[in-house]
Amino acid sequence: MEILEKKEQVKSLVKKIKKEGKTIGFIPTMGYLHHGHTSLIKNAKKDRCFTIVSIFVNPLQFGPSEDFQRYPRNIDRDLSILKNENVDAVFIPSTEEMYHRLHLTEVNVSELSEKLEGKFRPGHFKGVCTVVLKLFNIVQPDKAYFGWKDAQQLIIIKKMVADLDLDVNIVAVSTVRDPDGLAASSRNVYLSEQERKQALALYNALQKIKEMVELQKITRTDLLIEEGKKIINSYNVELQYLVAVELENLTKIPYIQKNTGILGAIKVNNVRLIDNIIWE
Ligand code: AMP
Repeated sequence: MEILEKKEQVKSLVKKIKKEGKTIGFIPTMGYLHHGHTSLIKNAKKDRCFTIVSIFVNPLQFGPSEDFQRYPRNIDRDLSILKNENVDAVFIPSTEEMYHRLHLTEVNVSELSEKLEGKFRPGHFKGVCTVVLKLFNIVQPDKAYFGWKDAQQLIIIKKMVADLDLDVNIVAVSTVRDPDGLAASSRNVYLSEQERKQALALYNALQKIKEMVELQKITRTDLLIEEGKKIINSYNVELQYLVAVELENLTKIPYIQKNTGILGAIKVNNVRLIDNIIWE
């Protein structure tokens, strides 16, 4: 596995690989890898891609009161996971390598970025899109893999790719969960044993909604959301949002049908968690 810290190293590797006619599959991450990340990697390997993973905790996507400094990091552990998955190359740039001192350009997918997560994390998606576009320009991937776990992010990246005519195929991968149902996330490490139980509020609400839709055939979103909120409020957590939307413009919908989802966010003490169910 090649371990690269400089953009120029990645660019010259990519040039060589493309000359050999290989397809490049790219998985951008912030590290502290878990089985959600390895699922994206396995998808790229299954697609027979030359697989490149990046690990970069992007300061631009964290708000001033967010967890940039304390975001969990463990590069040695990450590298051994990546080697185990037979990843071909990993790009681990420093902040200085990614951003010059006078970085002025930002990418903003307006409207979509202001909804849901955007209300609680102003500027977050601008940071995400800016770094993802930079990484796409460096890595020049044929395919890039993103998790449904971060549904709004996935939808916004797809929109950026379409709006800016980027030559990359975005592949969406299902959410990977721990045995108790909690969506795998690097931030789960912040949760105490007690908080982890409370964190299941959102998953349990989504499971109940899934049951109502798929077994009881209830598709009215007002009823589904009301039931979901009732469940979340029975735990001692802060509900930030729980909404039914269609998956292109993130507009609210009255009924569940194809290409819709229910997206939610809760806060367990200081830990923000998101999750969703999607009807693709
Ligand atoms: P992160 O390191 O949290 O920025 O995530 C990197 C990529 O992994 C993003 O595309 C996420 O959506 C994806 N991802 C994170 N957690 C999961 C999960 N539990 N299941 C599937 N994909 C995930």
